[in-house]
Amino acid sequence: MTQTLIQNATLLTMDPALGELEHSDLLFEGDTIVQIGRHLDSKKADKVIDASGKILMPGLVNAHMHTWQTALRGVTSNWTILEYFANMHAGLATNFQPEDIYIATLMGALNQINCGTTTLGDWCHNNPTPAHTDRAIDGLMASNIRAVFFHGSPKPDPKPGQKHFSEVPHPRAEVERLLNTRFKNPGLVSLGLAILGPHYSTYEVAVHDFLLAREFKLIASMHCAGAAAKTPDGWERLVQEGLMGNNNNIVHGNNLTEAQLKMMIDLGVTFSLTPETEMTQGHGMAITGRLLELGAAPSLGVDLESSISGDMFSVARFALGTQRALDNAHSKDTQHKLPDTSTIYCKQALEWITIKGAQALNLDDKIGSLTVGKQADLVLISADDLNMSPVHDPISSVVMQTSLANIDTVIIAGETRKEHGRLIYPNLGELKTQLVQSGKRLMSELKQSTH
Ligand SMILES: [Zn+2]
Repeated sequence: MTQTLIQNATLLTMDPALGELEHSDLLFEGDTIVQIGRHLDSKKADKVIDASGKILMPGLVNAHMHTWQTALRGVTSNWTILEYFANMHAGLATNFQPEDIYIATLMGALNQINCGTTTLGDWCHNNPTPAHTDRAIDGLMASNIRAVFFHGSPKPDPKPGQKHFSEVPHPRAEVERLLNTRFKNPGLVSLGLAILGPHYSTYEVAVHDFLLAREFKLIASMHCAGAAAKTPDGWERLVQEGLMGNNNNIVHGNNLTEAQLKMMIDLGVTFSLTPETEMTQGHGMAITGRLLELGAAPSLGVDLESSISGDMFSVARFALGTQRALDNAHSKDTQHKLPDTSTIYCKQALEWITIKGAQALNLDDKIGSLTVGKQADLVLISADDLNMSPVHDPISSVVMQTSLANIDTVIIAGETRKEHGRLIYPNLGELKTQLVQSGKRLMSELKQSTH
């Protein structure tokens, strides 16, 4: 198997046993990291990358994004969450053809790679037919990103004679079909369930969906925020019945009480927050600080490229900055002074978009840190660029100053997907045209309503 040696980098390993390593090397063989240290022997390596002046870190993890909305970039940026429900889910989403899902998912995932994300939680809840689902998976697989494809159901307004989506259980037959066909052999893309959960479904549907996920050993991820809860006491009832556990992932969670948060954290439930869409669209304040108070930590996601940037460093900065602002205001209110030091450090924000994201996707045995035996999912950042140099504290520089312009190299499972600042992918121009055409067609069908 091919051995590649990355030499003389600053390593932000995110592995507690290794920490930060100056002037160090990383060797990977095939798709696996095999050695980390100083002055590793380059003679046996098939390829040597000189990473002087660069920072090497694990690939970023975007734990929650609706990649199917990529052709609608900017369309929802001025919508509240209620306008978003009406105009996106009950409107634009109903006009998607399988090819719209394919091109959006492929191009959204390629943009993630370009921005340094190597693993994506793709929360696809616009699957009215198996053909839509298959093309979404095709798009993910074609991009070469590592991903969990969270299969979800669409949310249109019911037509006469149809049930409201909150009353429709997750389709077992489709889950079985996906497991027996698309996910029969393990690859970079695995399956999860994007279920409604008690916030968006009846209690009976929530129980059905939790049991379904448990039966097939899949992560059940669910939104909790936005409109009023369908089954407000559902969380406690699920816990009482022993149905919640460490295969559950809560997205947003803005309105959960302290008692509910504690109950879920104790059970190993993970949390994926999207502070920028939550706080600007109207879900409420992000629960970053509340999780930290309870000894947990969030993973983070872009949520909607139809609203904000797909860059995970922007997401991390927004999460960090807003929580510091809340903490500072709280300290002034209660202690009449600022905290003695920042309440959250940049290193924590970097964990949220690496190892914590890996944990939320149940992939932390494979990714999320530079650790021997883990997958070679790697990002090289140019630290001597105009906006980066000088670097005194590499973690602070990466979290606060890095942009897409500094992402030099991206490697996923040992395969180089971006090199010397350029994404490696054929026919990008043609694919961009297809995305533009898809977006134009979808927008021509928009009959906007406001609340
Ligand atoms: Zn979402």
